[in-house]
Amino acid sequence: MDNLNPLNFPADLLACLRLARAAAALTGAGVSAESGVPTFRDAQTGLWARYRPEDLASPQAFAENPVQVWEWYRWRRGLVSGALPNPAHYALADLEKRIPRFTLITQNVDGLHHTAGSRQVIELHGNIWRNKCSRDGAQVEVVSSNQENPPLCPRCSGLVRPDVVWFGEQLPAEALEAAWDAAQHCAVFLSIGTSGLVQPAASLPLIAVQSGATLIEINPDETPLTPHASYSLRGPAGLILPELLQAVWG
Ligand code: NAD
Repeated sequence: MDNLNPLNFPADLLACLRLARAAAALTGAGVSAESGVPTFRDAQTGLWARYRPEDLASPQAFAENPVQVWEWYRWRRGLVSGALPNPAHYALADLEKRIPRFTLITQNVDGLHHTAGSRQVIELHGNIWRNKCSRDGAQVEVVSSNQENPPLCPRCSGLVRPDVVWFGEQLPAEALEAAWDAAQHCAVFLSIGTSGLVQPAASLPLIAVQSGATLIEINPDETPLTPHASYSLRGPAGLILPELLQAVWG
């Protein structure tokens, strides 16, 4: 494993990307950090400093205090609504056009990959802009809500919640299956801006490595995935990804 200067990518890394007929990328909150959407760790400031994400984004939290959970999501939606894709999002949209079979798998719920132009995105953890009924999981289109009352499902009057996967919940089966399949059948797997701590997403890079793929990690910090990466590119994704694409495809 090499610790690389992002401005000096080794030739074999560039060749590996240039020759790849199938690749997959897993993105995490770090990819949107440069768009001003904080990672969970960075979001724990100010008003929300005393809460752990598990205490705000879990079925238990919603059962106990739906008003507070909605307050946290309104705050997050406010952040996301002002956010624009950054160069990392655009580079990944570009990668989709350059590699014949490219699968983008994201843990992010902010929708910024779509905004940047990525067309095939597996959203493992849902999307913060959608709502669903907490009783039957059916998506709910229009929700009127206010600070005091959590929104109610127009069909059954059950509580409406954001359509995101909370701590302790199952991932959507179809999305997970597609992500697993991509990890098993790619030549290159990029793990970008993810701490590698949240399962089962964190297993995808390992599945790829076990299936023979080259793992490239892009993250300013070391993660539990770092020892498994053939290339560990230290730094912000918004800087490294565009430079990497430039170095490979010019
Ligand atoms: P995480 O918060 O656990 O880890 C973020 C990782 O990104 C860290 O390893 C950090 O070193 C790295 N990072 C920070 N800035 C970076 C940059 N500029 N470029 C590259 N990497 C950078 O995030 P996670 O692994 O995605 O897991 C947290 C969970 O929280 C996920 O399930 C996700 O759904 C949710 N979440 C989503 C958003 C979002 O949609 N934008 C934001 C926060 C949390």
